[in-house]
Amino acid sequence: MNPVSAPPFTLDAADGWQVSGVPAFQDNYLWVVHDASCAVVIDPGDAAPLIAFLRQRGLALTAIVCTHHHADHVGGVAGLLQAFGACPVYGPADEPIPGRTLAAYDGEVLMLAPGRFEVVAVPGHTAGHLAYLWQDRIFCGDTLFALGCGRLFEGTPQQMLHSLQRLAGLPGERWVHCAHEYTLSNLAFALHVDSANPALQARGARERARRAEGLATVPALLSEERATNPFLRADASALHASAEQWAGSSLPDELAVFTALRRWKNEFRA
Ligand code: ZN
Ligand code: FE
Repeated sequence: MNPVSAPPFTLDAADGWQVSGVPAFQDNYLWVVHDASCAVVIDPGDAAPLIAFLRQRGLALTAIVCTHHHADHVGGVAGLLQAFGACPVYGPADEPIPGRTLAAYDGEVLMLAPGRFEVVAVPGHTAGHLAYLWQDRIFCGDTLFALGCGRLFEGTPQQMLHSLQRLAGLPGERWVHCAHEYTLSNLAFALHVDSANPALQARGARERARRAEGLATVPALLSEERATNPFLRADASALHASAEQWAGSSLPDELAVFTALRRWKNEFRA
């Protein structure tokens, strides 16, 4: 894992909004969508760095949005509410989200201060995992990572593959705001299973250079994930061949290849 020791970083979005990544713990990014006066926080795993970020900029907290129930995504909800007062807390209906005031459902649109947040169900890492689409950005928690995907703690490979396909199939170019800086460890596996992919090799060199400078590799472009993320390429012949070699048997379809890749990654050591 790559410890995140960088300060928060801020990206410009449309209509005068910005997105900031606030590093927390070893390798989490807590995301804040904000303008000069108000903010929506996505997956507040830890309150302290977010309270510092919001206070420094004099931002009012208008909503909290959670992708799933793991502590590194919701552990800071209570602290934020205590520091800034009550605000709506959205999260999956069927997961224990502390302080949740409103359940969010697949296909729903949340009208928040920065505009429309579209809710997409992406089960797999957890049973109720949600992703949120805002402008051309995807806040996908622990579902799709740069060059990887989340572990299957509660869902099936079939659910996760379908969830990843939903995200990968979204129209237009998008930024993938995953919740962890896992890119270099994911890269080692990706190169192992898809070594002849020139797009992956080029991306790998670039991501290593970014990390060497202490820069975040997240957000990542969705088009690049489609071209280089092995978990979005289970239908490619190169991945099929690799997975069959590892499994020691023939694999009938994309789901079987994806299932093998996910298991392989669990036991892979670079
Ligand atoms: Zn998680
Ligand atoms: Fe996480």
